[in-house]
Amino acid sequence: MVSKRIQNMKPSATSTINGMVSEMKARGENVISFNVGEPDFDTPSPVICALEKAVEDGKTRYVAVGGITPLRMAIADKLRRDNDLVYSIDQICVTTGGKQAVFNAVMALCDPGDEVIVNAPCWVSYVEMIKMAEAEPVVVKTDENYHLDLQVIRAAVTDKTKAVIINTPNNPTGAVYTAEELKALADLAEEKDFYILSDEIYEKLTYDGKKHVSIASLSQAAYERTITLNGFAKAYCMTGWRLGYAAGPADVIKGMIAYQGHSTSNSTTFVQWAGIAALEKCNKEVEKMRTAFEERRDCMRGRLDRIEGFKAGMPHGAFYFMPDVSYWFDKTYEGENGPVVIGDAQGFAKYLLKKAAVAVVPGDAFETPNAVRFAYPVSVETINEGMDRIEAALKELK
Ligand code: GLU
Repeated sequence: MVSKRIQNMKPSATSTINGMVSEMKARGENVISFNVGEPDFDTPSPVICALEKAVEDGKTRYVAVGGITPLRMAIADKLRRDNDLVYSIDQICVTTGGKQAVFNAVMALCDPGDEVIVNAPCWVSYVEMIKMAEAEPVVVKTDENYHLDLQVIRAAVTDKTKAVIINTPNNPTGAVYTAEELKALADLAEEKDFYILSDEIYEKLTYDGKKHVSIASLSQAAYERTITLNGFAKAYCMTGWRLGYAAGPADVIKGMIAYQGHSTSNSTTFVQWAGIAALEKCNKEVEKMRTAFEERRDCMRGRLDRIEGFKAGMPHGAFYFMPDVSYWFDKTYEGENGPVVIGDAQGFAKYLLKKAAVAVVPGDAFETPNAVRFAYPVSVETINEGMDRIEAALKELK
């Protein structure tokens, strides 16, 4: 029998659905993936070249658990350049993907019974990571535009609150938090003395001239209480490379490295060398991809707007839409044994997969049961094809 901890854990919906869709595609089914946050571009060639060179140079051995010094220096430079944040090497930990950065931070900070506030809709893994640390996830809702609701967060703070997790630009909503709302959270963190886990993995993907702001840069108090979390997957199309990092107070980073020392040890050595090239040599490629994502966002927004019953809003970042789809819940379609009611977001996603062969992720995975997530890191042609199919399928609902 597996542990209670595991019994009590929901598997990652994004990873599970993605595995299922990959298998369907491998069987030759023509499924369109609006389910996974994985850019469809190739990893930029400077990164590939750096990887090949690192392997040729024999960079294949164990290294320091917290990462090779040249990469930590490149991360420190990047944080200074892009985020107005000054960190020394001992304040930086290289991790195996952004996911591990978040997990290490939660494990390093939380004791059993501590509370961690999560702003929903939220990425699927935060709540489960907090539970695995035997801490208490406290899920609060964002406002109607998916921005932080400071009053609600304040009301949720107790003397057990250890941290608040934020993610901007946001997965699954695409919201880009403003400096004002972040400063208000930073002030609250100072007043009530809690940590902020700031997941900034989508920072390069902002549109309409919006700029990403790192909360740790907004005050000395915020800097002292924030663990800035990031990864290479989204900006540099390095999803499979599994490379991420965390920067924050030296004692927390030391704890994260100690924890990592007993779990995965250092992230893959030659991948770390390639990561330097991503940070230092790929600005042009990143901007090209950002422009393409903005065009795709516009395309998907236009298509969602055409459909009655989607309240899609206007996300300014990442590559997701999170429309409320409750309009469809009482509609029916003809199943094998008579009429089937859509019922909920799971039923809605199931119907789209069955009828339109389009995969999306139901909102309960993101603590938002009336919505579904559409990911659009795919070509404009694919978006149009997928939306054509969805339009046709929804017309059949009664
Ligand atoms: N973060 C991406 C997503 O939300 C990749 C899958 C995962 O790690 O959750 O789709």
